[in-house]
Amino acid sequence: MIPFNRPPYTGKELDYMAQAVLVNHKLCGDGPFTKQCHALLEQQTGSPRVLLTTSDSDALEMAALLCELKPGDEVIMPSYTFCSTANAFVLQGAVPVFVDVRPDTMNIDETKIEAAITDRTRVICAVHYAGIGCEMDTIMNIAHRHGLLVVEDAAQGVMASYKGRALGSIGDFGCFSFHETKNYSMGEGGAVLVNRPELVEKAETIREKGTNRSRFLRGQVDKYTWVEYGSSYLPSDINAAHLLAQLEMADEINRDRLDSWHYYEEGLAPLRDAGKLRFLEPPAECAHNAHMFAIRVKDLEERTALTSFLKERDITVSFHYVPLHSSPAGRKFGRFHGENVYTDRESDRLTRLPMYYGLSRAEQDQVIDAIFDFFGQKR
Ligand SMILES: *Cc1c(COP(=O)(O)O)cnc(C)c1O
Repeated sequence: MIPFNRPPYTGKELDYMAQAVLVNHKLCGDGPFTKQCHALLEQQTGSPRVLLTTSDSDALEMAALLCELKPGDEVIMPSYTFCSTANAFVLQGAVPVFVDVRPDTMNIDETKIEAAITDRTRVICAVHYAGIGCEMDTIMNIAHRHGLLVVEDAAQGVMASYKGRALGSIGDFGCFSFHETKNYSMGEGGAVLVNRPELVEKAETIREKGTNRSRFLRGQVDKYTWVEYGSSYLPSDINAAHLLAQLEMADEINRDRLDSWHYYEEGLAPLRDAGKLRFLEPPAECAHNAHMFAIRVKDLEERTALTSFLKERDITVSFHYVPLHSSPAGRKFGRFHGENVYTDRESDRLTRLPMYYGLSRAEQDQVIDAIFDFFGQKR
């Protein structure tokens, strides 16, 4: 049985978690393990401030609060994404305006953003699908010309870059996920990258129930009080301990995943060249992190048949997003702008192959062989 995902595990997680409980006696947020995660992530991304959160969804909520939206403001995003991307802004009364994706990467089509801008538009939210960067130079340029903010949903983009810059560190705010299905995990968790130094203090306040506790702990104020709106977005140091074990091995995990990604690419290339499959096509300026290996077949019918065929062989594959504009909440809260050429068509055709840290070549051979068999071809 080959699962679709196995949460990453490096071997040090339990030691570190025991240390949080038995040695540090620090189970709440912002303990020593959280601080080490912050330092490693700031070093790796170059962002001036990275703060662990309880999820990517919560990091997006923090980013939405930092954007200071008013009801009716509009946020441009792809429809092909997870509902959390939209929820964060809808909770602030904003309207998601969905635009089409590019067929090569399934990322927002940057050439269709400008036509969707109205006098209510405040934010562009770029989702880096599969850890492959969006066309950020173009997106940042549009944002500057129209006075918009940019939030990067880099849930899948930890350790990936665009023109040498870490995903999540390019826009005004970036958001990471450390859910167990992502490349680095703390069970449930995430991080917000605050790339505007003047907003770091406000971000710390919002994350700590709207209090100035961070300044108080640094000795910058002598009273700890409620100063701003906020919530509780900081995770337990036990979860941070789990994550630290993985961030310390981030290069090794990334290399392992990329090796598996390239093995699929090479193994399945004959089917791609025969026109049976299409892969995601990372542009040269994007160093991705092998978050997923996605294949696209002819249509929904063929995908359904392939999924059952692989299931018979104990291989689990997983399709992905139902585009948000077609969901009940998407219809209620948002709208699609422009022509939907690729969003529906490509999402119907796409499925993701088993991919995790430690995936073996023998397991991959089984998957590749089974896909060749499905198409009635010899490997
Ligand atoms: C996983 C994911 C999320 C949600 O992350 P959580 O940490 O579970 O909140 C949001 N957006 C995208 C693009 C994701 O891949």
